[in-house]
Amino acid sequence: MPRPINAYIHPKAVQHNLKVVRQRAPDSRIWAVVKANAYGHGIERIYPGLEAADGIALLDLDEAVRVRQLGWKKPVLLLEGIFNCNDVKVAEEFDLTVAVHCDEQRELIVAAKPNRPIDIYLKMNSGMNRLGFARENFREAWERASASPGIGAVSLMTHFANADEGEVDWQLHSFDRATRDIPGARSLSNSAATMWHKRAHREWVRPGIVLYGGSPSGRAVDIADIPLRASMTLSSEIIGTQTMLAGETVGYARTYKTERETRIGVVACGYADGYPRHAPTGTPVSVDGVMTHTVGRVSMDMLTVDLTPCPNAGIGSKVELWGEQVKIDDVAASAGTIGYELMCALARRVPVMVAE
Ligand SMILES: *Cc1c(COP(=O)(O)O)cnc(C)c1O
Repeated sequence: MPRPINAYIHPKAVQHNLKVVRQRAPDSRIWAVVKANAYGHGIERIYPGLEAADGIALLDLDEAVRVRQLGWKKPVLLLEGIFNCNDVKVAEEFDLTVAVHCDEQRELIVAAKPNRPIDIYLKMNSGMNRLGFARENFREAWERASASPGIGAVSLMTHFANADEGEVDWQLHSFDRATRDIPGARSLSNSAATMWHKRAHREWVRPGIVLYGGSPSGRAVDIADIPLRASMTLSSEIIGTQTMLAGETVGYARTYKTERETRIGVVACGYADGYPRHAPTGTPVSVDGVMTHTVGRVSMDMLTVDLTPCPNAGIGSKVELWGEQVKIDDVAASAGTIGYELMCALARRVPVMVAE
């Protein structure tokens, strides 16, 4: 018997969340962002939930090819563009749209002499200060790209640094000013801007985390009024129990000491499964559908939970580490990170199943 830990992926939840996005941004087309193997879910697993998207956006060329091999006929966008001349050939062969964030990338496309022009998203750095042309150089970059052989339609994009904290206008204004007389479709909005800043929607939005039911801010409370569904469940079982007397400690470093007699459950899930080791005592978890919390240090293969709220629980009881009941954002917040990281960090050893 394998250990009783499993991850379940719910393509129907992605499909549902996509509908929610559509309602929020009815006038925009949707790039469904599936980088990092669909935020750790597996592109192939969630693919059935993506049908209603207008395009798929990602970073890795091999992921783009996989999406084409799955039969995706609509646009595919490489968010970081290409890295060498051969990538241009692949982009041509698989009809990929590519971001161009610097003149070196434009030159690679020109040098590769594609037989068919490559559509691009010219990227502006409007304040994130990661990738993109500076505002003052943007018009010139656009003129050069538009005049370049091998380049087809030129769309415009930028990325927000702090949309989840309500700050988009400083970047929005600078983008709008620098692109005022430039034609072409625009794409600005990540999940936070898609959900919360309608004025930034434009022709294409680029939601990622909300497709998976996660909060762009990392706080579950910020999406509590949006009917999103969790697309990943991490579940396991109780494999042992202990009844501890008052004043005893549990686990490594003896960080948790009982105040009274306490029954604890040992769960087959540890940091080698992708559960955050930094999750302290008090991190939410459910046992047999009852909310409780972890106690003590997370070990490599096990963690321990307080069974006080569920006295009937025992070996074989179902444990949800995150999913529909236990918000991944709450687990992440407790561990000092964000739901994005937990999804992406699901370990390879965890068996993954596609659920309804
Ligand atoms: C990851 C990413 C997105 C999606 O971000 P979310 O916060 O997950 O919605 C959009 N655009 C770009 C360029 C990205 O890298």
